[in-house]
Amino acid sequence: MRKRLVIGNWKMNGSLAANQVLLSDLVNGLTKTSNCLVAVCPSFPYLAQVQSCLQNSVVSWGAQDISIAESGAYTGEVSANMLKDFACRWVIVGHSERRTYHGERSEVVAQKALRAVEHGITPVVCVGESLANREAGQTLAVIEEQLAPVLALDSSVVSQIVVAYEPVWAIGTGLTATPAQAQEVHAFIRTQLATVGAADVQILYGGSVKADNAANLFTMPDIDGALVGGAALNAKEFLAIIAA
Ligand code: PEP
Repeated sequence: MRKRLVIGNWKMNGSLAANQVLLSDLVNGLTKTSNCLVAVCPSFPYLAQVQSCLQNSVVSWGAQDISIAESGAYTGEVSANMLKDFACRWVIVGHSERRTYHGERSEVVAQKALRAVEHGITPVVCVGESLANREAGQTLAVIEEQLAPVLALDSSVVSQIVVAYEPVWAIGTGLTATPAQAQEVHAFIRTQLATVGAADVQILYGGSVKADNAANLFTMPDIDGALVGGAALNAKEFLAIIAA
């Protein structure tokens, strides 16, 4: 039975003061008995604050990126060991904003996923098609291509990842894939994972998930939770998604 998982991607948002309020509202609003794993991924500078606020709570935390390199002359990069210093359990890799603005290719994303697993951090590997891809009927082909370098890793590595299906046209736009559209892609991703014996990997949906659309998405058999952007910055909204 795959455990439900909801992860908040704060992107480049937050401040010490705002995070403090958001984190305490989140912790106070959650019950220990929730059947859902919950995590937040702040920007790097706030990992220490998030660790200190959440260390005795049911909420775990992670980062939004990781370096392929172990250490050394890589200005601006953050290594797996550094993330381990702040007890990160998760790291998002291959988010569409990194693919688009930083030219991250799927091969690099796979190497990042591998580095994370090697250090005991669970990578949340993001894949998703653009609107042009979808309109050209290329959705599944694009997902297959993005996943291929990850699936080429050792199957023991693949079984330790999480996949997030995030259609680019739904991220931050207010447009959400319908449950049926999302399920079609999730089922395809699960079939792909099954080819390397990793069918039990959790597959999250991401793209304008809100309190009012989460429940319907979560009824789909292959949607195991959500990667939430904008709505994760509002404790009430994020808690409602977790409750769904
Ligand atoms: C995201 O950036 O991972 C995301 C899903 O954003 P939003 O929920 O704002 O669409």
